Amino acid sequence: MPVQHDGFGRNITYLRIAVTDKCNFRCVYCMPEEGVPSRAHGELLTAEEIARFVQLVAGEGIRRIRLTGGEPLVSRRIVPLIADIRAIPQIEDISLTTNGALLPRLAPQLKEAGLDRVNISLDTLSPDQFGKITRLGRLEQTMRGIDAALTWGFEPVKVNCVVVRRLDQDVFGLARLSVERPIHLRFIEYMPIGDAGARGYRTADAATGKDGVLRAEEWDASDTVPSTELRERISAAGVAAGVGALEPVESGEGPDGAGPARYWRFPGAAGTVGFITAMSSHFCASCNRMRLTADGSIRPCLFSDAEYSVRAALRAGDDGRVLRIYRDAIAHKPQEHEVIGGTARQMSQIGG
Ligand code: SAM
Ligand code: SF4
Repeated sequence: MPVQHDGFGRNITYLRIAVTDKCNFRCVYCMPEEGVPSRAHGELLTAEEIARFVQLVAGEGIRRIRLTGGEPLVSRRIVPLIADIRAIPQIEDISLTTNGALLPRLAPQLKEAGLDRVNISLDTLSPDQFGKITRLGRLEQTMRGIDAALTWGFEPVKVNCVVVRRLDQDVFGLARLSVERPIHLRFIEYMPIGDAGARGYRTADAATGKDGVLRAEEWDASDTVPSTELRERISAAGVAAGVGALEPVESGEGPDGAGPARYWRFPGAAGTVGFITAMSSHFCASCNRMRLTADGSIRPCLFSDAEYSVRAALRAGDDGRVLRIYRDAIAHKPQEHEVIGGTARQMSQIGG
């Protein structure tokens, strides 16, 4: 079967899978403080069902898999799931997005199972701010996770930072991590996904801020920092600190070739600095991805709530129906997304 094209000629080769919607952190922009509501037994796909789905869509042209969530490393079946996916011959690349806390413990098993790459989320280098953003996390856990990723040879190691204007993060400090170490620091524009965008969490806890009061529910469009502004700020701080200005990395020479990020580099740095402009400029024209939610729905676009459930068909062992639903979902992949504030589901449920 040749690679599937959608209605706008895009080759659909990349699947992002939310293996769970649970997490050991509670980032203010992603989850309510009490976590996600617990689901009835059987509501979420099992690792075997996920692997079966991947096997089927590999026959439709899917070549790259990203495991995400929630936090994929809290799933007890993550290692066998990776091994099962690795055994599917058409799958060329398996990556995982994680908050890094469990990486020091799991990295050897993940490597052995066949995981190729990891993306680690890190929004700040301040232990205090890290605690406030993640509510349950400690900075040193994630920093040790980055060390483990480098030690175990996951290549390339990307570090993702969501930038929110009101958080006033030390973005140059984060970018500077790429000077000495072969890591790719990527700044992602804050996106109004789920409650964090539409309604806000009714929580009373402070994310951070000068007076200690800053709530995700108060964040708005002005908290999305456009990548151009960010890049100029980081570059100027590089000059002021004697590190030098950011220089563009030739297109196609970044850590992921033609992905959505644009990459830059401090002079002589081991790693790069990338910018993902989900909000300020669309990369919909080259979007090659589909998503599978933890409860078994195919989601053709992160920003659109249209979903196509394959759970019942997978459970019935009806491969033909699974494929019909998958093709239908591809046929309905929107040409581009409108960002008008909020989605019905949180990022942790969609699989960010
Ligand atoms: N738990 C893993 C982690 O944090 O890396 C994987 C799932 S998490 C939902 C995936 C990514 O989505 C993280 O980098 C997180 O910072 C990002 N994210 C969550 N909510 C977001 C939002 N509203 N805007 C932009 N990025 C967001
Ligand atoms: Fe968990 Fe990742 Fe969401 Fe933070 S961003 S709450 S680590 S799923």
